[in-house]
Amino acid sequence: MSSSPLLNELIESLRCLPGVGMKTAQRMAFQLLERDRSGARRLAEKLAAAMERIGNCSRCRTFSDTPVCVVCASAVRDAQTLCIVETPADQVAIEQATGFRGRYFVLLGRLSPLDGLGPQELGLDLLAARLAEGEVRELIIATNATVEGEATAHLLAQIARQSGVRATRLAHGVPLGGELEFVDRGTLAHAFGGRQNL
Ligand SMILES: [Zn+2]
Repeated sequence: MSSSPLLNELIESLRCLPGVGMKTAQRMAFQLLERDRSGARRLAEKLAAAMERIGNCSRCRTFSDTPVCVVCASAVRDAQTLCIVETPADQVAIEQATGFRGRYFVLLGRLSPLDGLGPQELGLDLLAARLAEGEVRELIIATNATVEGEATAHLLAQIARQSGVRATRLAHGVPLGGELEFVDRGTLAHAFGGRQNL
């Protein structure tokens, strides 16, 4: 505890950042006050503006400053392929690593009944309505390779089937540069089962 109640409140507030405990929060607060007050002011302004103005795209649910995000609004993106991801971070990862030029739909989670996450929370009614528009030809299901991600993929494949849309799933396999003896058994079994013709 410091002698300034405001400083204590700042330290407490910093603890909402992921991976930041009491000690780190203290160090951050002292650093900002001692050495970088202008940086701290900028951070405070950007945080306030971001919390005020960033919402979710009405088409794909990703974070957006405008009602419809730039990817959904772009005329050059292919409207026939729709890639389904769990989070905006997953969307960024695919955007940076692949040459994908289609559009996205962001679930903002995965099926997890225990956490209260069902089809409604994942926006699956919005997705079904999107597919009913008839423009999408392929649904690329890029949910994580976890138990919940697989259950979500299964449900998404059902929705695609009901809409007459082709559903594809990201391949899971041995990492590039990986040696078989160090790959975990689940991944190796999956890769073995999904082997391809040469
Ligand atoms: Zn969008």
